[in-house]
Amino acid sequence: MENRIDGKAFAAALRARLKEAVTGLKAEHNLVPGLAVVLVGEDPASEVYVRNKKIATVEAGMESFGFVLPETTDEQTLLAKVDELNKDPNVHGILVQFPVPDQISQQRVIETIDPAKDVDGLHPINAGYLASGLDGMVPCTPFGCLMLIRDQLGDLSGKRAVVVGRSNLMGKPMAQLLLRENCTVTIAHSRTQDLAGVCREADILVAAVGRPHMVQADWVKPGACVIDVGINRIPAPERGEGKTRLVGDVDYSQVAEIAGSITPVPGGVGPMTIACLLRNTIVAACRQSGVPMPQLD
Ligand code: NDP
Repeated sequence: MENRIDGKAFAAALRARLKEAVTGLKAEHNLVPGLAVVLVGEDPASEVYVRNKKIATVEAGMESFGFVLPETTDEQTLLAKVDELNKDPNVHGILVQFPVPDQISQQRVIETIDPAKDVDGLHPINAGYLASGLDGMVPCTPFGCLMLIRDQLGDLSGKRAVVVGRSNLMGKPMAQLLLRENCTVTIAHSRTQDLAGVCREADILVAAVGRPHMVQADWVKPGACVIDVGINRIPAPERGEGKTRLVGDVDYSQVAEIAGSITPVPGGVGPMTIACLLRNTIVAACRQSGVPMPQLD
């Protein structure tokens, strides 16, 4: 469909630009951006994410450092690993794959990562920079969403934006980014009254909830730009017994009839996350090395 936002193609083009930027940084400044990814335990979904991040990092010409720690790792051991990476000059970005096992505090891990190397943008210092309109590290998925929205709509000044979801990872930074673009922003959540009515006011509607097909066609203003962040696995008996498929938070086939533009799931926001992770690592490497930032976006 014509109004379908092809996040996969957009992310591929971004990754090609990033690869060029990395080639330039190597040639002109002898700088190779390095990303360290730490995985604790053997969660199969996390293993896939980590593998994909490694492949993308190497493809972009960057250095990839991977660490797998056993499921039984205690918090002190993980924090010591993070600290070691904080001090390693070849590592410009650090990502600890979440969730971590129960004996480890996710928040303590986040707060131990050097904010300059926090390519996930989750450290309170980076959240504070974003809220203050200053340059820090911005969480990858919301930044990827913003790139897609800007590509569709150009100048976002004065647009009504509604973000459904208020997590530190997604909803809050998304709202901050849209505010920075001069949108009039509403954040909706599980206690919001008349959620459908609130959503219907949006020129830009971002759904980051984790509820399959929650956003229906009559929640959407005709012509709105709809960004579906949700990743939900639902049973798909039509594919065979026990089979599942991925769907977003938006009822795509219905909403696509009236939206001006809309991201599919899969193939919309998802591919932007890794591309923006690579982008953040390049930004971090340039800042840490005092090298001028190449044109990335
Ligand atoms: P969280 O579970 O941390 O947050 C979900 C948010 O949705 C909460 O703020 C919650 O409100 C709100 N919510 C829950 N139920 C309702 C409801 N019925 N009506 C309105 N709001 C509701 O999730 P994340 O922000 O981490 O992720 C959201 C989704 O995005 C998930 O499906 C996740 O898998 C996906 N995701 C995708 C990424 C990608 O790369 N594409 C990356 C990150 C996330 P309250 O605060 O009141 O509880």
